[in-house]
Amino acid sequence: MNALSTRINNLAESATIKMAKLGRELAAKGVDVISLSFGEPDFHTPEYIKDAAKTAMDKNFTYYTPVAGYPDLRKAITLKLKNENGLDYDASQIVVSTGAKQAIANAVLCLVNPGDEVIIPTPYWVSYSEVVKLAEGTSVFINASVEQDFKITPEQLEAAITPKSKLFMFSSPCNPTGSVYTRAELEGLAKVFERHPQIYILSDEIYEHINFVDKHESIAQFDSIKDRVIIINGFSKAFAMTGWRIGYTASNKEIAAACDKMQGQVTSGTCSITQKAGVAALEGGLESVHAMREQFRKRRDLVYGLLKEIDGVKVNLPDGAFYFFPDVTSFFGKSYNGRTIKDADELSLYLLEEGNVATVGGDSFGDTKSIRLSYAAAEDVLVEAIKRIKEALGKLK
Ligand code: PMP
Ligand code: GLU
Repeated sequence: MNALSTRINNLAESATIKMAKLGRELAAKGVDVISLSFGEPDFHTPEYIKDAAKTAMDKNFTYYTPVAGYPDLRKAITLKLKNENGLDYDASQIVVSTGAKQAIANAVLCLVNPGDEVIIPTPYWVSYSEVVKLAEGTSVFINASVEQDFKITPEQLEAAITPKSKLFMFSSPCNPTGSVYTRAELEGLAKVFERHPQIYILSDEIYEHINFVDKHESIAQFDSIKDRVIIINGFSKAFAMTGWRIGYTASNKEIAAACDKMQGQVTSGTCSITQKAGVAALEGGLESVHAMREQFRKRRDLVYGLLKEIDGVKVNLPDGAFYFFPDVTSFFGKSYNGRTIKDADELSLYLLEEGNVATVGGDSFGDTKSIRLSYAAAEDVLVEAIKRIKEALGKLK
């Protein structure tokens, strides 16, 4: 007898977490495996942020906090949104959560009814479609291939909309493709949303500071739709704070109150010490953030050059985040040692076993043609990893 609910039985395991686990297990067995699977900055959290956490403990910020976050943190987030993004929000519109991941789950669970359609451009971040499943919504995918730089057009969006559409979910800069929508492209999408006032827009901006082209553009800048946009952001990527578990939503007051109510029943909000560290992160300026971004830029250029030299790998130059999502279809049907590659997931496993490099197959990102490589690793590690990938791919005939 299966004791578990249909809800959990139907839920897929997070592919990013699964591959990271597999990589760690192999490393524990003594295999010299390089992990390019996990989307996690390899930098340490800046010292001034850690110092603020130590002070918070000494000052006994160790009790339950208001569910939506300490008032000074929510205020600091509104100032960030104003100063960096030109967006006006009141502190009551901010809900701080246990990572952007929970912020996304809160928003989806608060907005989506069973049967509602959630439009998601592919490739998308692995958890989007699974959270929609938890809410018993139906994901409707729009395909964006490497040829269109993985970005959808207003026409594609319009064609995906039905009377059941409730939510649109996307990330820019994008995980897994690194694509960044320009202001004009976002405006094109916003014009479509103007015609469909029942649709909410979840705009995941967690990679905003890892942008190599320009200043960050948020779809919330268009006043005609701002009230329907839920901005998702957090500290994991910009401030190298993945383990601290802090992210937030900025939305209209009705949705903010709903997210507050939701997490009041589920987590009671995120860690008090983390929240104080979050205030310090936002008040400390962007110097360390920009220094990390420049490191990521150097690595991107390095990996791009190396990937382009591999026969059969089709790759675009990502404008942000820290991933490549190369199209590897030319290897499908090829074999080595009696093993034939059927799809991208199989290729990712082959690279792990034959090349000792962990990547993530595209299937869980909604794209069966590509694999994802995270370049949040030191340059010498990246060079060795791509060398191994090239060698392993070269064996496939
Ligand atoms: N959104 C995207 C696009 C991500 O890549 C991640 C990865 N962690 C998250 C949200 C969740 O981030 P957090 O660590 O703040 O939960
Ligand atoms: N977001 C990162 C990734 O895509 C971390 C893993 C996760 O949060 O699922 O790899």
